[in-house]
Amino acid sequence: ITSLALVLGDQLNASHSWFKTVNPQRLIILMEVCEETDYANHHIQKVVGFFAAMRNFAQALSTAGHSVLYIRLDDPHNHQSVTKNLTGLLEKLPSVAHVHLQQPDEYRVDCYLQAWAEQQSIQVSWFDTEHFLTQRSVLHDWFPGKDNFLMESFYRRIRKQSGYLMEHDKPIGGKWNFDKENRHKLADKHDVPAPLMFSHDVTDIVAMLTKAQVKTIGEIDPERFIWPTTRAESRQLLDYFIDKLLANFGRYQDAMHTDYWSLFHARLSFSLNTKMLSPREVVERAINYWQDHRAQVNEAQIEGFVRQIIGWREFIRAIYWHHMPNYSTTNFFEHSAKLPAYYWTAKTKMQCMAKSIEQSLKFSYAHHIQRLMVTGNFALLSGVAPDEVDAWYLGIYIDALQWVELPNTRGMSQFADGGILATKPYISSGSYINKMSNYCQSCHYDVNQRVGENACPFNSLYWHFIETHKKQLRNNGRMGLILNQWDKRDESDKQELLKQARFYLSQIDSL
Ligand code: FAD
Ligand code: SF4
Repeated sequence: ITSLALVLGDQLNASHSWFKTVNPQRLIILMEVCEETDYANHHIQKVVGFFAAMRNFAQALSTAGHSVLYIRLDDPHNHQSVTKNLTGLLEKLPSVAHVHLQQPDEYRVDCYLQAWAEQQSIQVSWFDTEHFLTQRSVLHDWFPGKDNFLMESFYRRIRKQSGYLMEHDKPIGGKWNFDKENRHKLADKHDVPAPLMFSHDVTDIVAMLTKAQVKTIGEIDPERFIWPTTRAESRQLLDYFIDKLLANFGRYQDAMHTDYWSLFHARLSFSLNTKMLSPREVVERAINYWQDHRAQVNEAQIEGFVRQIIGWREFIRAIYWHHMPNYSTTNFFEHSAKLPAYYWTAKTKMQCMAKSIEQSLKFSYAHHIQRLMVTGNFALLSGVAPDEVDAWYLGIYIDALQWVELPNTRGMSQFADGGILATKPYISSGSYINKMSNYCQSCHYDVNQRVGENACPFNSLYWHFIETHKKQLRNNGRMGLILNQWDKRDESDKQELLKQARFYLSQIDSL
């Protein structure tokens, strides 16, 4: 063996150029380490999902003839740290003269691997993960000297560059963005196809985690693990989405419903973030389908989907790498409250929160609007410290890796970055939740009441937030209308709302 090639748990890209040829002198290393299970309090399905996918990936490489070393968490020689294991291997294999690493997507991992690489006397080479459409430095490269970036300009540039959904240099349908056509509530009797769920037996991994006392949250059925753990299954999930869900994706993207936990969403984020699927193949598969089925899938649906992947996902990563490490400590509103206990139990009388949290604990999944406009909105309105909010989102979701979780949480959802990512805070009273879901119909609270015993907490907390932060919000043009509405309110009306909010905040754990 003359070289080692490290593959991290989120680098399961079977099409990577590393694997094009078999090199018997190169040992490919994958490892399960406590350093990675313990940096956050993860959902058990997240840890199991990563380990199962890594094991299958290692197996596939091995079957294809590559030399692979897989270090299990319970291996007695495991030092439980990526770099310590690499050092240990170099000691055992003195013939190794070269280590190959792929650029990690997370800052934390980048730091420890860079530091390790610098200490080595042998050659360490860095490679791209060959996954994203853009480089980490894309904002700097495309908009030199600027520090203010709009997702829309970024997205249009990628559309032009890739040619996706373009006709003769013009966007299809003459529009870059079909968002306005896309915000529908689910009709009462709408048919929603059941989500495609796998049924893996993962009892061995669960038993290993229990024995190693890895601390996790959430539920798992070890005999029926539902997430894809191979590239073939990821492609099956993609096919299912394209055939059954894409036609309604954009239309019901913002909808929420008590009976459907994933509606028309793709549930592809785990496969994408582990790199079992590439963003290019996902959008190309969707676009090809749309081209052949224009009667079923209209332009608004396909554009809505493509924008999530080549727009939002790439932009989020670009923001992360442009602003780290400072981004992770931003706290624009200086919020400091604790996260209410029901984020970990779903035991709350607020139906929207109970449903969103319950399914997060059960499936390690909630869709975007549940994350943004229910759990995120409530945390922001209640003044929860962004560190607490981040820790929760980083732990609970199967797709949570810091590069994508942090800008979405701190930036988009909590506005802790002061507007780097979003142009205004994503806050709403109960009326938005009522407009987009059927949650309020079966809630203990009354969405139409602003004050009183059963008043929906979102209502008074919303105005309390506006009052508390009006100074900072005045600088934001997009908040002008709302601030005017607040200013014009009767003083006694204002005081009643603020009193109600203070009462709720004083008993936040028992709402
Ligand atoms: P769909 O709704 O079907 O969308 C398709 C794909 O588009 C997703 O798989 C995803 O890859 C991409 N996408 C859509 N929106 C975004 C976005 N805002 N940022 C990045 N990619 C996007 N996404 C994660 O992958 N990991 C996270 O840790 C994460 N944390 C979030 C935290 C908060 C507070 C919020 C508001 C959003 C977060 N998101 C995160 C973004 C988004 O909610 C998820 O990507 C999406 O819900 C995953 O489910 P899906 O595959 O069914 O997505
Ligand atoms: Fe949520 Fe308020 Fe509606 Fe209840 S009434 S579901 S708390 S928005």
